[in-house]
Amino acid sequence: MSLDSFFNPKSVAIVGASRQKGKVGYEILTNMIKAGYKGKIFPVNPKADTVEGLKCYPDLKSIGEIPDLVIIIVPAKTVPAIMQQCAKVGARSVIIITAGFKEIGEEGKELEEQIIQIARGARVRIIGPNCLGLIVPANNLNASFGGDLPAAGSIGYLSQSGALMAAILDMVKSQSIGFSKLISIGNKADVDELDIIKALADDPDTKVIAGYLESITDGSIFVREAERISHNKPILLMKSGGTEAGAKAASSHTGSLAGSETAYESAFARAGIIRCDSIKQQFDYAQSIATQPLPKGPNVAVVTNAGGLGIMAVDAIERRGLVFAKLTDETTKKLSVKLPPAANSHNPIDVLGDALSDRYEFALDVVLDDVNVDTVLVLLTPQAMTKSAATAEAVVKVSSHKPTKPILACFLGASKVEEGKQILRDGRIPQFDSPESAVETIKVISDYARWRNRPKRVVRLFPVNRRKVENITDRHLRQDILEISEAESKEILEAYGFVTPKGAIATTAEQAANIAEQLGYPVVLKIWSPDILHKSDVGGVKVGLAGEQELKDAFDLMMYRVPKKRPEAHILGVLVQEMCSKGKEVILGMSRDPHFGPLMMFGMGGIMVEVLQDVSFYLAPLTAEEAKQMLINTRTYQILKGVRGQEGVDIDVIAEGLQRLSQLVTEFPQIKEMDINPYMVGPEGTTPVAVDARIALEK
Ligand code: ADP
Ligand code: MG
Repeated sequence: MSLDSFFNPKSVAIVGASRQKGKVGYEILTNMIKAGYKGKIFPVNPKADTVEGLKCYPDLKSIGEIPDLVIIIVPAKTVPAIMQQCAKVGARSVIIITAGFKEIGEEGKELEEQIIQIARGARVRIIGPNCLGLIVPANNLNASFGGDLPAAGSIGYLSQSGALMAAILDMVKSQSIGFSKLISIGNKADVDELDIIKALADDPDTKVIAGYLESITDGSIFVREAERISHNKPILLMKSGGTEAGAKAASSHTGSLAGSETAYESAFARAGIIRCDSIKQQFDYAQSIATQPLPKGPNVAVVTNAGGLGIMAVDAIERRGLVFAKLTDETTKKLSVKLPPAANSHNPIDVLGDALSDRYEFALDVVLDDVNVDTVLVLLTPQAMTKSAATAEAVVKVSSHKPTKPILACFLGASKVEEGKQILRDGRIPQFDSPESAVETIKVISDYARWRNRPKRVVRLFPVNRRKVENITDRHLRQDILEISEAESKEILEAYGFVTPKGAIATTAEQAANIAEQLGYPVVLKIWSPDILHKSDVGGVKVGLAGEQELKDAFDLMMYRVPKKRPEAHILGVLVQEMCSKGKEVILGMSRDPHFGPLMMFGMGGIMVEVLQDVSFYLAPLTAEEAKQMLINTRTYQILKGVRGQEGVDIDVIAEGLQRLSQLVTEFPQIKEMDINPYMVGPEGTTPVAVDARIALEK
């Protein structure tokens, strides 16, 4: 769908244009005029003959031609009638500024439904209602009451909050930040965030898509489309926490640990969306991407006139997981020939406190040629001899001669460096207020560059017994049983290639001893009841039983104690299970997010998972790389790999377990939540065992 008549209208009707200063209908009309809009403006207001020197029309029909764009500012109750007029005269693009719709409750929601109906019937597209309007600087179009027309540039911005857009417009005035389009999307009654993002993706004037969102209309389509778009144009989003009503009731560990926040995080990661926590961050990143090439790798070189500042940058580079570039001998030699003897010709290159612009120019020029350098950060503090303006000019000059690697700058200080900063901004060199924030930006753009070059996602399909799982889930759903027992959960897992411990149910101590004899000691006893979710909590698990007498005693004790603790529970017997060889306990799980679908979890610690909270999430279906990354993303990954002489576990085998689980929950949308906890994993070469499992269904 093209939004062209929104972005580039030949004529605009303003319904509710007003003569009264301070009224939105006045602000928008005067903003349109002030911005120097070149098309025709038709104010519509039955109570006036002229407004701001323009002929005023009593209604849309009396204009006598179809306006490309209609802006509606009349009170909410009147909006449906105006929408009818739009439909009748054949107007196709409407911005409804008016508030008082869905956002105020039931009554407003009904009104919003009405306008959506009219729009659908007549194929009218709506931006809003309850929005600030739209700005296209290059077309001198300011159809908003957000502020003055900003500079034209290459950032396309969409905002679900009008107030935030007004703040941005005010902030960017002094920053030389330019926009291709700014769109306030309001209640998204019709045109939603994805429509806008797609339009910006197709817009040749937009190089970077940025925005602020509070909600996403359709999570899975959004992820798919955003992933496609991010491949060519970066998307940078701020997303506010949102208001998921109350904590959802969860029967699994995974369900209780996964929130809507984690789902968004995973969705953004999958789609390559750059998440921003503040407006400042967002514009730091957006400016750098809009003005500089993407780095080819993580290696950063620093050119500075102050040692301390250089060290701050080095620290930040290491902290952020970037690489402090090791210059080639050739570069070092070239530098040392021309720089004064006291200067440092290694990274960070210290051109010394008395450096004028020529030294900076020389050093920057040489460093950019080094094959080991992907990004250069130029630092400057205003010392006695420093010429900040001339240095800024030199940086801009080198950058225009050698435009293939990103250059970022931090001129630290205030009045003494102000002129230099302005020259940098005008010369399209991103300028930061600390080495730390510059390095943070380098990290973000390097990660994005790497994401773009990532190998194609290949999701492996394992041969499984789907039929068997279908039988179990169908039977449960038919009987309205939504919790699958541990035994049948394990059957499901076996059908998907998991190994579970051998065992059988006993109702007497004698029986238990017979089973144990067959399994071989040591064994584990577990209370067997559909009503007991966490067996160890009620003394229902006894591990390491080494012989017959010990086993029989444990059996009697369990059958005596558990009913006392849980008198209402239906106890079917005791499970005698083979004892798994000592390994590390991890958890594999899934919780289905209402917006984004199955969210996989990997975590450390088995029964301690909630205590440790060392978990990571990612959206299914998982590739092998993504599954492995989930492991790496836990804090205690090092422990898994093996530290201090402790043997590590088989990482690839755990990652495969996650992929198998991901296949299961992708193929069975009726699975709502599940845990394998613990998943007992041993050293390389051993097979992990799904010791305990729980699956919950939904209709
Ligand atoms: P629940 O989670 O209901 O309390 P589990 O079956 O997960 O019960 O057992 C609790 C803990 O007991 C596990 O985390 C594990 O440490 C230990 N355990 C249980 N079964 C075995 C087994 N077959 N081999 C070794 N350890 C086991
Ligand atoms: Mg368990």
